[in-house]
Amino acid sequence: MMLRRKLTVVFLLCALLVPTLAFGQSNSAPKEVIDKIKDEGMNRSQVMQTLSYLTDVIGARLTGSPGLKNANEWTKDTLTKWGLQNAHLEAWGPFGRGWTLKDFNAQVVSPYTIPLIAYPKAWSPSTKGVVTSDVVYLDVKTDADFDKYKGQLKGKIVLISDIRNIEADFKGYGSRYTDEDLAKMEAATPPTAGGQRPQQQMTDEQRQRFQQQQQVAGKRFQFLLDEGAAVVVDNSRGGSGGTVFVQGATVAQPVPANPQDRPTRLAAQQKEAESRMLPQMTVASEHYNRMIRMIQQGVKLKMTVNIQSEYQDADPMVYNTIAEIPGSDPKLKDEIVMLGGHMDSWQGGTGATDNGAGVSVAMEAVRIIQALGLKPRRTIRVALWTGEEQGLLGSRAYVKQHFGEMQGGGNGFGPPDPNAPKPTLVKGAEYEKLSAYYNLDNGTGKVRGVYLQGNNAVAPIFKEWLMPFGDMGAKTLTISNTGGTDHLSYDGIGLPGFQFIQDTIEYDTRTHHSNQDVYDRIQADDMKQASTIMAAFVYQTAMMDQRMPRKEMK
Ligand SMILES: [Zn+2]
Repeated sequence: MMLRRKLTVVFLLCALLVPTLAFGQSNSAPKEVIDKIKDEGMNRSQVMQTLSYLTDVIGARLTGSPGLKNANEWTKDTLTKWGLQNAHLEAWGPFGRGWTLKDFNAQVVSPYTIPLIAYPKAWSPSTKGVVTSDVVYLDVKTDADFDKYKGQLKGKIVLISDIRNIEADFKGYGSRYTDEDLAKMEAATPPTAGGQRPQQQMTDEQRQRFQQQQQVAGKRFQFLLDEGAAVVVDNSRGGSGGTVFVQGATVAQPVPANPQDRPTRLAAQQKEAESRMLPQMTVASEHYNRMIRMIQQGVKLKMTVNIQSEYQDADPMVYNTIAEIPGSDPKLKDEIVMLGGHMDSWQGGTGATDNGAGVSVAMEAVRIIQALGLKPRRTIRVALWTGEEQGLLGSRAYVKQHFGEMQGGGNGFGPPDPNAPKPTLVKGAEYEKLSAYYNLDNGTGKVRGVYLQGNNAVAPIFKEWLMPFGDMGAKTLTISNTGGTDHLSYDGIGLPGFQFIQDTIEYDTRTHHSNQDVYDRIQADDMKQASTIMAAFVYQTAMMDQRMPRKEMK
């Protein structure tokens, strides 16, 4: 333990010495400017007002749905009001249909009434009116188990999950990174190309069990569809105390007639998926578990469920909101520094930590720069992405259109083909013009540092930029990659795309994709700190003499 501490100190000293030797002071803004950014960001912040409008007033922002379009329009108008230029919506797609919940009710009605905490899944079709029916627990673990339920499910409300054990919360929901956690991140070794897929790390036995589970799960929805179940109910996959994790509806996937053929996967938002989905909802675990226990005690349950939803098919396209602070240096104004976060959310909450937080912080960062009248040399462009939850779709489409894409390299289906050609980079018009992209999408936690994505050349620059924020908790650089969000769209084609290290707070324990992802789970001081640091990073990137160093493409 002591040895590690000592090594960290030595490493820190070296890291502090390098920038002054290699880069001088030219990459950093003068102290007065950083102080002004801090003052505006910490003392006159509007980040919580922005977040409240986005979450409380506009509400959930499911990709393709009216809520998201409202958010597109409102963010565009707000950025324009703040003095940004060229605020507009950029279309990508076609994505599929929108979905809006019109009416919902679910309770146990026999042997007596039990109200339930429950949420419909996104893109769930409507029930045929209000359904009151027997409740059946479909307990299938192997193929043979299905036989027991043949002819038993027509018109029934079917529970498909097992009991999930709930433990007392001795540790607490919220956490921040400790000095020890951060020291470990800082000491990480550079990431290897490609990384490891979780499935490759499984033992043979684990893989077999996983495949069997997948097989049964795949068959289950086709079976429920064939048997004519009325409603499918599952257990929240995590959380307790009324927290429900709920995302998109499951589609009974069509099986190709010829097993050699590539299966076509239908996404819930595709029109063709509607006839292959049943009305679906998720129940809070304490309530779900009780229903299963009552059934196991021999009680005959009846439930009443009403799911009324509406699909929107008028416009299959989805939009990113884009706006700019134009550059002021005649030689550099065509170059771009980007920042952003994704605006789409799931439907159970109001997408506050995922990712109203990132949107509000990115908007606040450009508001700070604009309010101070700072004149960046390069153009600063803010992008509020959509379709992130369905696979970074909005940022990928944008990056492909503006910056380029990797072409070739196999079709991405099945195990990697060793004979497939190496993918090659095809550059777009703005590929050489982008300096860097900064993303925020790890919840409400304040910034503790930056993931370098294996780009060691930026370390001395970022180290310098973090120095004025050390007393606000941001001082760690890790060479590691982090995944799961929109900076990957840039990183994937060799452009400097970064996600900040953020304190986790309650992200995985309570808010991420749950009904509790709401304004009240947001930490105001963390949001102010994050906005201030993002403003400083973006501004200084726009002021550098050189473009941000890029890592070598492997
Ligand atoms: Zn998410």
